[in-house]
Amino acid sequence: MTGPAQQPSDPLRASLEQSLAAARQAGDVKKQALVLADLGYILTQSGDPRHAVAFLAEAAGLARGLGDKILEADVLGQQGLTSVQAGDVRPGIEMLKQALAAARAGGDLFAEKTALARLASALPAVGDAVQALACYDQAIALTRHLKDTAGEAEVHWFAAILQAELGARDRALAAGREAIALFKKLGDPNAPMFVSQLEKYQSGGSPPAGDLKALTAPVLAAAGAAPTVDANPGGPSQGPGVLRMAMTAAKSMARYFGSGMKTVSAETLRVRLQTCESCEQFTGARCRLCGCFTTVKARLPHEKCPIGKWPANLVRS
Ligand code: SF4
Repeated sequence: MTGPAQQPSDPLRASLEQSLAAARQAGDVKKQALVLADLGYILTQSGDPRHAVAFLAEAAGLARGLGDKILEADVLGQQGLTSVQAGDVRPGIEMLKQALAAARAGGDLFAEKTALARLASALPAVGDAVQALACYDQAIALTRHLKDTAGEAEVHWFAAILQAELGARDRALAAGREAIALFKKLGDPNAPMFVSQLEKYQSGGSPPAGDLKALTAPVLAAAGAAPTVDANPGGPSQGPGVLRMAMTAAKSMARYFGSGMKTVSAETLRVRLQTCESCEQFTGARCRLCGCFTTVKARLPHEKCPIGKWPANLVRS
């Protein structure tokens, strides 16, 4: 799972706003909390963390009132990340720690893994790389226990980025190789790009400055699509930035694929989405276990339901 976590689309936002109005009218507090969390999530992904925080704060209050620890963990985790992104670093990290406590109190290992990975991503902002690496290690152990291969691959890659930022070159390479082995095992079409970026990191070279198109073009071409992914390197194009760029590119491609290019058959897509809609892990827009927007994830042939709910015989285009 290297990308369908984001789909900040206006139609989705409009649909969520309608759902929120309906939930408010019906007095459905849980639905309100779920929709507010999704709205906060897409606003964060759209680069509007200040407005996202308002939605997420309301969602967190509702989740707390309901006593739903798993929902509280999800909302607080997103609120924490969004606050960090908005510049409120220490309050955000406090929320991320509360999210982890809520996930543990709720006894949900998927929620705990997500909370650990989120906390790990934020801790370096206050100079606590040691604790961040410990959180990544715990998250990896949980992904293995849960057989969440996609989650494990992604956490390894983020750990590789952090190791590279710390100058721990051998550990960064080892973590990157672990991630790549899993991306390949999953049949992730982005695997060659991760390989290429790790090689560039290893050689100390850099890709053409700011050129995400150069990274995404081979995968899009193989899919018969035009290379229209936005050029947004999201950081320096050498050292750790080479590794970070691979993840940014993978997510950009997922957004592209999710914007209209069907990569599985209509029947497969229908069954997958129907399964998600009746699933207790579905927020109304996202899968809470992997954080993905299901309308994006369900289109991608290599994607899987983290708990195996999608029918296996429908994964081919
Ligand atoms: S069916 Fe699977 S992918 Fe869909 S919401 Fe449930 S757990 Fe997530």
